[in-house]
Amino acid sequence: MSDYIQELVEGVKAKNPAEPEFHQAVEEVAESVGPVLDKHPEYRQSKILERIIEPERVIMFRVPWVDDQGDVQVNRGFRIEMNSAIGPYKGGLRFHPSVNLGILKFLAFEQVFKNSLTTLPMGGGKGGSDFDPKGKSDNEVMRFCQSFMTELARHIGPDTDVPAGDIGVGGREIGYLFGQYKRLRNEFTGVLTGKGLDWGGSKIRTEATGYGSVYFAAEMLKTRDLTLEDKTCLVSGAGNVAQFTIEKILQLGGKVITFSDSNGYIHDPEGLNEEKLEYLKTLKNIRRGRVKEYAEKYSSATYTPLDYDKDHNPLWDHKADCAFPSATQNEISGKDAQNLVDNGVKVVSEGANMPTTPEGIEIFQNSDVLFAPGKAANAGGVAVSGLEMSQNSMRLSWSRDEVDSRLHNIMKEIHKSCLQAAEKYSTAGNYVDGANIAGFLKVADAMLDQGVV
Ligand code: NDP
Repeated sequence: MSDYIQELVEGVKAKNPAEPEFHQAVEEVAESVGPVLDKHPEYRQSKILERIIEPERVIMFRVPWVDDQGDVQVNRGFRIEMNSAIGPYKGGLRFHPSVNLGILKFLAFEQVFKNSLTTLPMGGGKGGSDFDPKGKSDNEVMRFCQSFMTELARHIGPDTDVPAGDIGVGGREIGYLFGQYKRLRNEFTGVLTGKGLDWGGSKIRTEATGYGSVYFAAEMLKTRDLTLEDKTCLVSGAGNVAQFTIEKILQLGGKVITFSDSNGYIHDPEGLNEEKLEYLKTLKNIRRGRVKEYAEKYSSATYTPLDYDKDHNPLWDHKADCAFPSATQNEISGKDAQNLVDNGVKVVSEGANMPTTPEGIEIFQNSDVLFAPGKAANAGGVAVSGLEMSQNSMRLSWSRDEVDSRLHNIMKEIHKSCLQAAEKYSTAGNYVDGANIAGFLKVADAMLDQGVV
């Protein structure tokens, strides 16, 4: 790491204390783009990196609501508008008790480069709340969403900032949020993506992140003349990204033997099939139950509670060819990465955002593993959100096949640009550097063109 990058990273830590995830994300990108800054003094002169790490705007607000018992509850809401150099702010909303400013800043920062990689005109943003939808009634979720949107509405718009879903924000929440926005503004616009198919949503948006992550893994395997056929895969998570990662792996002939939620994980050595996946979708999306119930239904499966005090997660200690972390940040420790390598994993495709710790990434990169960072591998979700925005603007609705084929092509393009950028800056085959550099260049050039703003 050069002195300049070292100083910059230290400055970020001092200025943004108690935000370790944000520090981690900035450090990774800053290290990757160091050689680009050496080659292009104009970026340093214009303080592009210094500006890119500073959010254009941070909005933080009170979200009061009334629960089913008639008691008043208070949560905190956020929207980080990180960078609008190449388009309106775009990025999901996360509702989870762990949400805080630092986590959302890391997610918004990652989103800037991810959105740039999609080839679509979208800036980066992220938002959410420490509200936990788990265990809440539909009416409580609705009242919370209405209160949250009552404040957020004044900051967003189809040409300003277009939020979407993330952890804890799926079709139900997007519906309530959209309804309240429409009511407040008296306009029906594409202000959110991930909408229902009957009211402006795009086909394949629900599937896009998971499908995209598998398409990306398939592209990586192709560089070694391999396919997903008959490959054993470990998936973590059981939400939106995990479910459609499993679905696409099955369609491409792979075998999935694990998935999880925040309480524990399922190991099904026989592998999932269509019927088991349907059971999982109903369990999580409709009954809103826990994955533990899967092992009660299918005798081939075992359930193991997660022990967060351990230095590793046994989910990552099964023999497999591919791993698809699709739950949350920092879920693969150094020990987990070593277990995966020792068990012969060939590909790791990050469906979640930053699920691998820096120690884990180093272990993958020092081995023969093809490792795809989230900002490249999970960009399919926001890419189809971008396609949803285009369809909304044109007041058109494309077919499932059309959107899926555009998604597939975008994932191939992202794969290609990561490899090309890595090659150009002498880190051939390094998808982390490739994604950071390719994502950075487009935003940096736009910022140069637009002057000091
Ligand atoms: P969901 O809320 O649909 O699912 C999240 C899953 O991860 C659930 O199974 C949840 O378990 C589990 N999980 C959440 N937090 C933790 C935790 N702290 N420890 C262990 N497990 C946890 O979210 P998504 O599937 O949408 O998101 C998953 C990841 O993918 C996130 O990192 C998100 O940022 C990323 N992502 C999502 C995109 C999208 O389009 N949805 C786009 C790009 C990235 P439980 O049920 O117990 O909460």
